[in-house]
Amino acid sequence: MKKLLFIFPHPDDESFACAGTMSKYSEAGHEIYHVCATSGDKGKCGPFNITCKKELASFRENELKKATDCTGVTELILYRFPDGGLSAMNRETLVEKLRETIIKVLPDVVITFPPDGVTGHNDHITLSEATKQAVVESEQWLKPHEWCDLYYVSIPHYYDHCTDHAPSATYPITGKIDISSQTDRKGQAIQAHKSQEYSVNRAYPGILEGDFRVIKPYEYYTLIRSKGVEITPIAVEPVPVFDFFTV
Ligand SMILES: [Zn+2]
Repeated sequence: MKKLLFIFPHPDDESFACAGTMSKYSEAGHEIYHVCATSGDKGKCGPFNITCKKELASFRENELKKATDCTGVTELILYRFPDGGLSAMNRETLVEKLRETIIKVLPDVVITFPPDGVTGHNDHITLSEATKQAVVESEQWLKPHEWCDLYYVSIPHYYDHCTDHAPSATYPITGKIDISSQTDRKGQAIQAHKSQEYSVNRAYPGILEGDFRVIKPYEYYTLIRSKGVEITPIAVEPVPVFDFFTV
């Protein structure tokens, strides 16, 4: 049994990026930990009549819990930092919180967004940088056999539908995970985020109506640090299929 720690800023990031991977590894008996750094209280509220930020935060936390039930998350860890405010936070406070989580969970693998944030969102970029720093710092506290591997997750098919969010160059991708048996789980996880109908309909059209054909059979990763060693990623074409624990 291994432990995977996913770190994202908003409820729905995890479902868009890697709900299939979460489901696959939980089905295989591994433990899945998911940090959500904010409660998404700056998001849209979709078809629901939600007028205050506090109510939206708790509504989105409930949606996230439904999504994590779909993907078999072992523990959901909510930081409840301000949505849209991660870059304005004291960086050391953010890194320290992440480092504490890493030291407590002792994950084999940590996964977060790449430095381009996939969508360019400031929270995504800030949390990517802070997570990398926290992984590096955690090595000073842990024994070498406890050090984790750090991967970035990209969503290349996101730009099929959201071309205006595409970065000038996508982060190099070094491997993909086959989630063809988990596409229904991923669809159900995305469906849980009903208040985000605008984003869901843009990135994954059809899902809210129960049509999961838009979900691709792979999720995409880049290994950037392994057992204390920094790795310069080089994009490989075609992207090879891999498994976190057999590379
Ligand atoms: Zn997000």
